[in-house]
Amino acid sequence: MFYIVEEFFSIQGEGKYAGYPSYFLRTGGCNLTCPGFQTEYSANGERKLGCDTYFAVDKAFANQWRLIDSEEDFITHLKSKFAVIDYKPHVVITGGEPLLYYKDSIFYSIINYLIENGIKVTFETNATIEIDFEKYPAYKEAIFALSIKLSNSFEPKRKRVNIAAIKAIITNAQEYFFKFTISKELVATSAKEEIDEITSLDPHPLIYCMPVGESRESIWGNDAAVFEFCKKYNFIYSDRLHIRVFDTTQGV
Ligand code: SF4
Repeated sequence: MFYIVEEFFSIQGEGKYAGYPSYFLRTGGCNLTCPGFQTEYSANGERKLGCDTYFAVDKAFANQWRLIDSEEDFITHLKSKFAVIDYKPHVVITGGEPLLYYKDSIFYSIINYLIENGIKVTFETNATIEIDFEKYPAYKEAIFALSIKLSNSFEPKRKRVNIAAIKAIITNAQEYFFKFTISKELVATSAKEEIDEITSLDPHPLIYCMPVGESRESIWGNDAAVFEFCKKYNFIYSDRLHIRVFDTTQGV
């Protein structure tokens, strides 16, 4: 069984498939908290810092998450959602950290169903969880957006960079790309060095960089620096379309 925080049909706003109509499934729970991303929120009367999806990370919100305990019911539910559009949308599984559930039998059955039905499945992952691709081969057919956290997340490196997990994806997945979220401060200090260290595992890395920010205003504070950084080092600039268009509105 696993938890869904929200699901919605939208346009992918980031990375290689930015602009593609996509059905989003956001799972509940994460193995990181990323306070460096500076999104302020309150939980249980306490002021906290986290990432822009803190409501899918902090267990204080778990009473709002939906338990999925039947693959048949959830696949029927997805079929009814997809029936209102007359094409197969990309499915983006995000979080939180969706790969927390990669071994879960219900989660895996749903991924298998999507893959077997020719649906493109992208995992938005922090790439800290090592997948056993031989035991769970459906993941070989998925796309992985490797959103590996850098020092600006304020997570210790031993938690945010798992070389074995990254190598397993690079070696086994049919498609993947790197996607880094960076601030102007990181651009001015260690961004290039950190990205080089992580992506040196891959002889031909596809590298997207996007500005930190949970709102239009905070993105405006970082986008120009990231834009120039990409020009300088031949990285691909990724905007965050959904925030540009909808600002802080969730589930659009
Ligand atoms: S890994 Fe992603 S979802 Fe988890 S806390 Fe960090 S930014 Fe948020």
